Amino acid sequence: MAVVVLDKICKTYGNNFHAIKDLSLTIHDGEFLILVGPSGCGKSTALRMIAGLEDVSSGTLSIGDQDVVDLPPKDRDIAMVFQSYALYPHMTVFDNIAFSMKLAGKNKAERTKRVNEIAKILQLETLLQNKPAQLSGGQRQRVAMGRAMVREPAAFLMDEPLSNLDAKLRVQMRAEIASLQRQLGVTTIYVTHDQTEAMTMGDRVAVLKGGVLQQVDTPKELYHKPVNAFVAGFIGSPSMNLFEGRLEGGSIRLPDFSIPLPASVLERVPGLSGFDGKPVVFGIRPEDLHDSRLPSGRAYPTIPALVRTIEELGSELIVHLKIDAPRVDSGDPDAVEDLSGAANAVARFEATSTIKAGERIDLAIDPAKLHFFNPQTHAAL
Ligand code: ATP
Repeated sequence: MAVVVLDKICKTYGNNFHAIKDLSLTIHDGEFLILVGPSGCGKSTALRMIAGLEDVSSGTLSIGDQDVVDLPPKDRDIAMVFQSYALYPHMTVFDNIAFSMKLAGKNKAERTKRVNEIAKILQLETLLQNKPAQLSGGQRQRVAMGRAMVREPAAFLMDEPLSNLDAKLRVQMRAEIASLQRQLGVTTIYVTHDQTEAMTMGDRVAVLKGGVLQQVDTPKELYHKPVNAFVAGFIGSPSMNLFEGRLEGGSIRLPDFSIPLPASVLERVPGLSGFDGKPVVFGIRPEDLHDSRLPSGRAYPTIPALVRTIEELGSELIVHLKIDAPRVDSGDPDAVEDLSGAANAVARFEATSTIKAGERIDLAIDPAKLHFFNPQTHAAL
């Protein structure tokens, strides 16, 4: 077990492409830290630098108090799990898991004892004599985990280990890996582009954009207190709705409507006072928009909206709406997919709502749940 410390790590490709800029991050002993961000944000590069598969351009890096910048991967006391499993197809599950012990010169009895212990934890006991081709995707993933565990490393590094699995198995393996990590207590750094994976698995989540760390926090803090519009838009599905309005006398004003802000909001967000009479970006999560005809929406101010399309999910409705407010781009490429056709807002309604596509409705907004951002810098107010 070990603390992993990245201090002002940079990675430059060629003369001036900065894939990672000044990344400082401490991953605590036994912690499960997720590195997340959209494609190309540098998360694999960061992980590969920790593994030693990529040189560090500048900065320092230590694993368990040892400076590892100049150490080759094999001397860093880490084990990696990739999305491609990297199993040996001609070897049995037992031999795949035991492989590194054999290389290290451990005798047969030691190997058998350790592999059996691991197989028990991973529920692979009945499959030890099978070859990888005879296993399901989830079982192969568990063997890949077994290969990493057998080495008893100071840290596990995982690069999108679930991305080759189908959606259902991915959800199941998420829970399995998270519970296994807690059981083993080994410091783990896990890369994914999937914010749901990040939010459900990690003790803390580090969000990267364009090689720059945006925020590192618990899933709950990231969700409720995003530091900027990018994190606000990236974390949560469907994404937070972001619009530009004008703050006037304690209300958000838009061309055709205004949303009065309760005193509690003005107290909670002291930064708002400097924006009176000025444009401001405001954000509202889909679950904080309500059907005003349902009890859940009756207490809130409303704005006029046109229902464009509805996704019926059984337990809830994802409603795509058009409101008269200029949408603000969070900078997350995936957020665009939340919107369909001419919609500029997404709401999550209870399944009891009877709204229909094409209808004009009064959309209720819970003003206490609004987030506010500086319109120039997109930093949270
Ligand atoms: P993805 O989720 O798509 O794998 P990522 O966040 O893991 O993306 P990286 O693979 O770390 O992204 O790449 C970060 C940036 O560095 C990208 O713009 C990529 O094109 C660039 N990059 C990666 N490897 C190299 C290389 N060997 N030479 C030049 N540029 C590179």
